[in-house]
Amino acid sequence: MGQTQRKMGSGQIRFMAPERGVNQLAVNAILNALWDLWAKVERKPLWQLVADMSPKELVRCIDFRYITDVLTPEQALEMLKQQQTTKHERMQLAKDSKAVPAYNTSVGWLGHSDDTVRKLLREATDQGFKHFKLKVGLGQDVDRKRLGLVREAVGDEGVLMTDVNQLWDVDIAIEYMSELLRSNPHLKPWFIEEPTAPDDVLGHAKIRKALKQHGCGVATGEHMNTRVLFKQLLQAEAVDVIQPDACRLAGVNELLSVMLLAAKFDVPILPHAGGAGMVELCSHLSTIDFVVVSGKKSVLEYTDHLHEAFEAPAKITSDGYHETPTTPGYSCDVKEAEFEKYEFPDGSFWKTDQGLKMANDPWRGCYGEQTS
Ligand SMILES: [Mg+2]
Repeated sequence: MGQTQRKMGSGQIRFMAPERGVNQLAVNAILNALWDLWAKVERKPLWQLVADMSPKELVRCIDFRYITDVLTPEQALEMLKQQQTTKHERMQLAKDSKAVPAYNTSVGWLGHSDDTVRKLLREATDQGFKHFKLKVGLGQDVDRKRLGLVREAVGDEGVLMTDVNQLWDVDIAIEYMSELLRSNPHLKPWFIEEPTAPDDVLGHAKIRKALKQHGCGVATGEHMNTRVLFKQLLQAEAVDVIQPDACRLAGVNELLSVMLLAAKFDVPILPHAGGAGMVELCSHLSTIDFVVVSGKKSVLEYTDHLHEAFEAPAKITSDGYHETPTTPGYSCDVKEAEFEKYEFPDGSFWKTDQGLKMANDPWRGCYGEQTS
């Protein structure tokens, strides 16, 4: 698998955009499909396929090119061997669906009224959620009010997170967050997510340093295309949390290398799970990280939408954990009926008002203002 990863990114086509952009998305799609097939052939959920590997077998799945200055295959092997001794205990926790605690973002989407946020918050705390993420950047007054509302509802033991989807310049991020956090010292978010451009490693480091005095960390990673950027973020001590995306790196292979890098720097991984099918994929990744790589429980986003489109939908337990996947494969099979509905241009969706509006948009949604 490591060789396959290397060869998929090394042909002449790399001159289009090496390990990034549309090339990397295509590599991701093919590698993930291979992992899915491999797990199905072995009749195991993907996380278990990886968890059942010996450290040597797992290391062979990774292309270490460009990261050996920080992590060599030999060092990775040692790290994995150390985790082996207690792996069976974590394996049992995974089988009991006690491996991956869930966090909720549904309360924080832009566009919700205060009353809706209060209502969603009550529902979420009743379900056992303790972590809450809110979009910010709406203006100091609005943000202070909404964050205050959530902090008040969840108390000191609740964990608040904030996300601004790359909206700010580096110094604006520092000024905005400092002012917000100074105005109400009880807000204390765990982190601000994607405060600036995803590629700006040193910018993230500067923001992290400035916000430390307010007890707020920095998180990013959902738009990063390669292990190299993660390596640099960790080297530069630019982040408190990293959030790799299951569909943006070179398949499970590269995710494994990022997990190992994060474990080496003792930075938790919260895979990015905000999108259709993302919770399904990420519940495998977080389980692998806990059972095999870091040995530490982290949290994973649970967004309650579009699971019904999948053959093996993600679920949460009554005590706020992700249900560990049991169906063979990578939980990425979409139901046949969804293809009949959405396949362009003959699917039934494209005859609806919304479908026609989208199909007739000459910009296909590409051009416009940032709305979230
Ligand atoms: Mg985000």
